Amino acid sequence: MFPAIQFGRLFGIPLQARVSFLAMLGAVLLLMGGLSGIFVVLLAFGSVILHEFGHALTARRLGVNVSAIELHFFGGVAKLTSLPKSANDEVLIAAAGPVVSFALAGIGYLLYAATGLGGFALLSAVNLVMALFNLLPTLPMDGGRIFRALLSKRMSFERATEISVKLSRVVSIAFGVFGLAFMQIQLLLLAFVLWSMASAERVLAKRNPYGQPARDCHPGGPVERHAAAVSPDRIVILRYNQRRN
Ligand SMILES: [Zn+2]
Repeated sequence: MFPAIQFGRLFGIPLQARVSFLAMLGAVLLLMGGLSGIFVVLLAFGSVILHEFGHALTARRLGVNVSAIELHFFGGVAKLTSLPKSANDEVLIAAAGPVVSFALAGIGYLLYAATGLGGFALLSAVNLVMALFNLLPTLPMDGGRIFRALLSKRMSFERATEISVKLSRVVSIAFGVFGLAFMQIQLLLLAFVLWSMASAERVLAKRNPYGQPARDCHPGGPVERHAAAVSPDRIVILRYNQRRN
């Protein structure tokens, strides 16, 4: 895997971009071209970063360490390197991103209503889609995490993951069926990606896939570097497994 490229720091949190994110921005720029392409790219870029800061700043406020905000093909992830203290804290952290996106969608809408400028309508639409997409009840999306955290209040983390993965698969299949019915190749691709991401979560919740000693599990340590290369979400899961073991 390619390393993440650090391009800045905000509120003391490093901002990193994966090559897949840059490729996605490049594709938008190529498809749309010119000034409007640059505008859409900047707007999407800013919206994703603000969404992730919703997660990151809430996490930090609740005493959870955030090592970086990383941007990739499907948006971004706030890399948490310690555990939320409770399921409720996890719900708050997961919900904070979509809350920011909904707020931006509302602000964009009000500005559009006041000025009639198409750019604000786009800001509103992009953030509304981002909020709704992230609230899909599939792992490792925000909606799936909220669902799992709520379940984990009444059962083990592994069992909660198991049920959440089943729901994720139902949602993936629904996307796949719609994709086939309307011949939308993007939906088929999305169905496949959602299915594989959820399956990876299932494996992770069952066992510590690394077996490394705890001393290697610190921010920037070998376990985190490897985990981040495979899937940023593994870092959080790894901590869960260690706590439970
Ligand atoms: Zn999010």
